[in-house]
Amino acid sequence: MVNSHIHPDHTGGNAFFAGQGAVIFAQENLRDEMLHPPGRGNGGRAPVPAAVPTATYRYSSPGVPAVTIHMDGETVDFIPMMPSHTAGDTIVRFRNANAIYIEDFYRNFGYPFADQANGGSIKGMIQAVDLIEKLGGPDTTLVPGHGTLVRKKDLLGYRAMLVDILAKVGKLRGQGKSLDEVLAANLTAPYDATTEGDTKQSKDRFITEVYEEVKDFPPVVNGERKMPGRR
Ligand SMILES: [Zn+2]
Repeated sequence: MVNSHIHPDHTGGNAFFAGQGAVIFAQENLRDEMLHPPGRGNGGRAPVPAAVPTATYRYSSPGVPAVTIHMDGETVDFIPMMPSHTAGDTIVRFRNANAIYIEDFYRNFGYPFADQANGGSIKGMIQAVDLIEKLGGPDTTLVPGHGTLVRKKDLLGYRAMLVDILAKVGKLRGQGKSLDEVLAANLTAPYDATTEGDTKQSKDRFITEVYEEVKDFPPVVNGERKMPGRR
């Protein structure tokens, strides 16, 4: 068994399946998050020992499988991801079935969710979409952790929204606007009609994440971005 990321709706069965004899694979970061909860993800509770992944690997570079399983005529790749939905994400590719489980860096139910307490990153989610663009063919079935089956062309609107909202929130924060002011600007309004599950909680969470992420964006001075020495 492989954990795609730490959230309890994706790891809650670990102890049960370990009890059935399953070996649980995951990124080493996920194991660390589970053993040393940053306060979110698993509710800050110490895990049941049997629920902790025992076979771990690390992210090295985009798209490189860490583990390949040969089973019943299928070849399955566990591909660790850059920090995106969390810092411990793994996607799962089924080569013969031409399908990739893309977990939660993409979703078509609710607004994007980068779990920053567990190392997630909105910019990393854009990189994750770009990786799928390279890994998948036009007919590859993509299986999100939440929502419906999609093809890679369906990810383009999502990517454009991430880029658009990053730029708009960055601009407002650069002008000194507070989080409440940015939330009140209702920047997701153009996307509400096409986003299933567009609850206020979901959109506010998204905008709050982006606001947090753009805090280090270089400020605009006299119409030009001033690049800091270190990002
Ligand atoms: Zn999740």
